[in-house]
Amino acid sequence: MDLGINGKIALVTAASRGLGRGCAEQLASENCRVAICARDEAAVKQVAADISTATDSEVIGIGADVSQIEDIDRLLAETRQSLGDPDILVTNAGGPPPGTYASTAIEDYQRALDLNLMSAVHLIRGVTPAMQSRGWGRIIAITSISVKQPIGTLLLSNMARAGLTGFLKTIATELAPDGITVNALLPGTHQTSRIDQLIQHRAEQENRTREEIMQEMTAANPTRTIGEPSDFGAAAAFLASAQANYITGQSLLIDGGSYKGLL
Ligand code: NAD
Repeated sequence: MDLGINGKIALVTAASRGLGRGCAEQLASENCRVAICARDEAAVKQVAADISTATDSEVIGIGADVSQIEDIDRLLAETRQSLGDPDILVTNAGGPPPGTYASTAIEDYQRALDLNLMSAVHLIRGVTPAMQSRGWGRIIAITSISVKQPIGTLLLSNMARAGLTGFLKTIATELAPDGITVNALLPGTHQTSRIDQLIQHRAEQENRTREEIMQEMTAANPTRTIGEPSDFGAAAAFLASAQANYITGQSLLIDGGSYKGLL
């Protein structure tokens, strides 16, 4: 299916690996012109070159930390200068450190809000004026299954992503008349370095091996597999498509059916 986004300009943040990279690869495969960022400038430029070679699309890499407003402003300025104003924005950032109410220090809360909530707010505020004047835009935020089903050991993630979800749902209504859709993609368990870190943390806390925990997670998923960044990226590409013009204000789980609730 032609997704109707050939030549569109896409910005995907935190995309040197994992789910962000999966989204950038799929958008580049649809012939979007893509900007990606991560904190390590050399690494993200190399990844951009690799995706460009693999997809034969223009992909640029920009060093930027999305928890810093000045980096976001520079990221947007460099993207505009190299490619133009983004038509498609995928907001992503690294996950906050694991922790419970008992183990989380007060100063960690603000850091998590800057990383996983305010980064998306700044990015969205930066791209919407041009989308509004064009009458077309796609905003996709990577959040987490924790929005529907909070995870006991990820207090900061649960809090920041719930706040972002409230922001996204509100602006989806406000931006719909301008032809801009706003949706969230909720990863369940996908094979990335973030999951490796969380497995390591659990292995230490529970005094078990990483392999045991990985087997348990795989067996617990109805598909008996762990998700791939490419499955996730394919969903992002669809939400960015011309065909998805009537889908907005949604939180879509990509979790192999692991969420047990009805809605
Ligand atoms: P990952 O660790 O594999 O990749 C994170 C990416 O973000 C890397 O490219 C890294 O360089 C970049 N990054 C980290 N901090 C950044 C910053 N401050 N500024 C710019 N770039 C930054 O993680 P992932 O598994 O792809 O997860 C992406 C997001 O989805 C995270 O917020 C994670 O918590 C969330 N999530 C992931 C899963 C999963 O199963 N993988 C499940 C639920 C939620």
